[in-house]
Amino acid sequence: MAATILDMEKLFQLFDNSATMIMNELHISYLEALAESSENLFEGAILQDLDSFTKRRLQKEYEGMDLTQISNEMIRKALQLAILKGMKEAIQPNHEMTPDAVCIFMGYLVEKLMQKKEQFSLLDPAYGTGNLVTAILNNTNKAIKAYGVEVDEILMKLAFAGANLQSHEIELFRQDALQPIFVENVDVVVADVPVGFYLNDVVANEYELSAKNGGHSLSHYLYIEKSLKHLKDGGFLVAMIPNFMFEGEETANLNDFIKKNAVIIGLLQLPLSMFKNHKHAKSIFILQKKGEDVRGPKQALLVEMPSFSKKEAMRGIIKTIDSWFKENI
Ligand code: SAM
Repeated sequence: MAATILDMEKLFQLFDNSATMIMNELHISYLEALAESSENLFEGAILQDLDSFTKRRLQKEYEGMDLTQISNEMIRKALQLAILKGMKEAIQPNHEMTPDAVCIFMGYLVEKLMQKKEQFSLLDPAYGTGNLVTAILNNTNKAIKAYGVEVDEILMKLAFAGANLQSHEIELFRQDALQPIFVENVDVVVADVPVGFYLNDVVANEYELSAKNGGHSLSHYLYIEKSLKHLKDGGFLVAMIPNFMFEGEETANLNDFIKKNAVIIGLLQLPLSMFKNHKHAKSIFILQKKGEDVRGPKQALLVEMPSFSKKEAMRGIIKTIDSWFKENI
């Protein structure tokens, strides 16, 4: 299928125009309207109670688009652009979508870690809009049974719509992922981990990594514990974490917990230029849950990533990572 950038732009225009029409008439946010419009496109029907003039205009927009002619990646990218537009309006930093280049790169790491398996299961407990998981699914030939958990209602609606439009069967749960979740243990957990305080102290107290000083616990710590808990023995966690994760009072607990339950596969620092505020810069942290045959690498993969747009430098680093995998995994 020869999907082009033009298809993506056309689809973005459709998302943008139709969401704007629905937003203006129903007085809802752009993101809510985008989720509604995506659902219309998937169902092939206008599901909202709109006046007949708007309905006709919408119908015309949808009629010009044949999704079967567009690749999943182009659908994901067009939706991503529209979501980014909506997120500019009003979004908390912790709800931001995982950037495209990081999604693709995390997908490459998952592929490397799972190179010997033709099929595996994967969970994202901070699913957001699903940009990360759908990027992984769109760029592999393997059969992946995917699960996602997300607490935010609007993001979950966008996630459903995105999965449907890209014809992915993903089991999605709208709930607090730090409370019990009904997902069997998986081979891989991926997450762009929420950073900050987790306010439900009762739930947090069930965790070994809850705050020991009486205050609220750190969401990014609880997510590491939760993710490891939901891995099979020998399974991998590929997490985007804040660079300051290993600073502060509670770090010793985190280090002990990791040592007890996992081996460190690698820490890859993302380029600082990706982050407006360098204090919010992030890394990709890879752990393997302990298990009978888990030996750990001879040496952890420690990398400072160049800017993703520097093609030559990226080629060099990918070569280094590829040979590290050959020797260590
Ligand atoms: N990877 C996602 C994507 O591509 O859209 C973005 C992840 S975003 C950085 C973190 C997500 O975690 C947000 O969507 C936020 O709503 C969600 N989140 C935060 N705390 C949560 C919790 N306790 N349970 C479930 N989801 C949570």
